Amino acid sequence: MRSLCTLALTLGWLKLASAAIGSTTFDHIIVGGGAAGLVLAEKLSRNSSVSVIVLEAGFTTDDVVPALFSTFIGNPTIDWEFVTVPQPHVSNNVISLPRGKALGGTAAVNGMYFVRAASKEYDGSLNYTFRKKLHRLTFAQFPAWEKLGNPGWNWKTVDANIKAMEHFTPASPSDAANFHATDSLQNHGTNGPISVTYSNYWEPAPLIPAYFNTSNALGIPTNTHASGGSTFGVWQSPCAIDAKNRSRSYAVNTFLPAAEKRPNLVVMTGAQVTKINLLPEAVSSGNIRAGGVQYIINNATQNVNVTATGNIILTAGTYQTPKLLELSGIGNSTILKKNGITPRVDLPGVGENLQDHYATSVSFQLKDGLGPEVGQLTVNSTFFAEQFQLYLTKREGPFASVPATTLTMIPFQTFINATRLASLKASLDNSLKAFKGSPFEKQIAIQRNFLEDPSVPQIELVMLPLNQDPSVTVDPSKTYMTIAAVYLRPFARGNVHIASTDPLQNPFIDPNYLGITEFETGIMAEAVRFITDKIATTKPLSDLIVKTFNPAPGSSDAALQKFVQSTLQSSWHPCGSASMLPKAQGGVVDPNLKVYGTDNIRVADASMIPLEIGTHTMSTVYANALHAADVI
Ligand SMILES: Cc1cc2nc3c(=O)[nH]c(=O)nc-3n(C[C@H](O)[C@H](O)[C@H](O)COP(=O)(O)OP(=O)(O)OC[C@H]3O[C@@H](n4cnc5c(N)ncnc54)[C@H](O)[C@@H]3O)c2cc1C
Repeated sequence: MRSLCTLALTLGWLKLASAAIGSTTFDHIIVGGGAAGLVLAEKLSRNSSVSVIVLEAGFTTDDVVPALFSTFIGNPTIDWEFVTVPQPHVSNNVISLPRGKALGGTAAVNGMYFVRAASKEYDGSLNYTFRKKLHRLTFAQFPAWEKLGNPGWNWKTVDANIKAMEHFTPASPSDAANFHATDSLQNHGTNGPISVTYSNYWEPAPLIPAYFNTSNALGIPTNTHASGGSTFGVWQSPCAIDAKNRSRSYAVNTFLPAAEKRPNLVVMTGAQVTKINLLPEAVSSGNIRAGGVQYIINNATQNVNVTATGNIILTAGTYQTPKLLELSGIGNSTILKKNGITPRVDLPGVGENLQDHYATSVSFQLKDGLGPEVGQLTVNSTFFAEQFQLYLTKREGPFASVPATTLTMIPFQTFINATRLASLKASLDNSLKAFKGSPFEKQIAIQRNFLEDPSVPQIELVMLPLNQDPSVTVDPSKTYMTIAAVYLRPFARGNVHIASTDPLQNPFIDPNYLGITEFETGIMAEAVRFITDKIATTKPLSDLIVKTFNPAPGSSDAALQKFVQSTLQSSWHPCGSASMLPKAQGGVVDPNLKVYGTDNIRVADASMIPLEIGTHTMSTVYANALHAADVI
């Protein structure tokens, strides 16, 4: 360990990646230097008496210009380029699942929204049970993550940890007044390392006020405290952007600079872990212990060992953490044997309970004269060059912001009429009978109860000032808008499992999109109808719209459902594949994040989230990693 750290200090931790490194020993081996991995590494290495190594398969990226975030998708040097298996309920489509392959992980390349879910999703939720015979409502406390068997994993912890990492800078008074870029200061931290602020490019300027006013006219309130535990309404998302230099703020340029100077921390890039080395004999408790991990660097296989009291902590992300467990002999014995792997720990929950958000969108052409929107960057090279120069010299313009931060979080009651909703729920309840007696019965019941609580949003609308309809040929002289509908809490559960024993082969990923087909397709169709037939036709926004692309306003149920099934995409927030749940409920890790049946293997990334949250996942993953350092 000492010689490796000395080498690290001499070469600098990034150069270390290309160095030839022999076996050595650490107290904590962190697999994956992504969102969770780096935050965890920083906190664990604050204790100078423990040694920590992070093994990251990707390299560093200098993609810190906010508006360029989407350019990484499909670039194999920084995108793992995962895909789903064909999705039977989505026209058999194979759907792209980008993930960051870089130091900083997916947070190095993501959209930077820095948001929390509703507090009830982490812990206490009112359970409204309609007792038909008594014709009255009863209320009971119904906590979510915590109630699922995870003491201490609740809103209070998540919120405190987000505040601890956050350095929040409010928007300018005019941006707050004109574009609703506002939230109560008490909902934010101001002394943490991650800089958080609002976008400051709002073109075309009339669009956002019109969108808010139309939303209000449809009964959707403007939410001025969306980070405080109640997300219902329309609001602007804060983003992980440095308010001074208008660049991406993430673990690599915040948590890491302090930590990298520590002699007890080594961060290695270009090192892909291929297996956890399990010791041949169980320890006295009967559990299996890991002695270290195997990784490939510069095409050579190396090993790194863990001390007698140390941990292997998996933070390789929702798709690759279960893959590593399975490659190492931990998982469903039947699946392991089918792949020729001798099971060491039979743990059927590994790779199951996969949940993800999914979305479809509708694009519109806006009236002439509104001015350029951010989509012009892709079709107008002069505009691109001018604006990039503006960014380089003054840190202003579209490059200094996330292009679309107007979010709307709504329950079904906002956009589906009571009769239709009752019939969709009846269909859902029929489908949910399949979960009776399954390990997921309890979490499905919690999720079902959320539908009766209108303060827990189910659908997110994202308004983007650009075209996203691939069938439209963009005219650079025109202005466009898209409204995406994201389903925040699908009931269907998917899975992710190894495709073979080759550690370099991507796993089979089956999110099972629209798996509760009648209900989930119906909900998405209603969300699209709300966009085309209500939002787009209600003043003042309707005054700005000259054309709705697909689907046509007034489309039939069948046409809307077909549209949903042919256009559905991932919304990129997978979780649950190594859930923190009791083993009997399909769990993989206990509340201390230890993998069942093992002595020293932990999971601390998004895969441990047992029940999907109704928001973007990054800040919760960061917060969980801070909490993980306390419980490991
Ligand atoms: C396109 C996109 C946009 C998004 N936008 C937002 C947003 O705006 N706001 C938000 O809140 N969330 C957003 N997200 C989601 C958010 O980025 C993730 O929830 C978060 O990064 C998950 O963190 P993680 O630590 O679980 O995984 P990751 O951050 O993906 O980290 C996993 C790391 O492990 C490494 N790794 C994997 N396998 C191995 C191996 N075998 N050996 C060594 N290293 C390995 C990977 O290279 C990666 O660095 C977005 C996601 C995507 C894909």
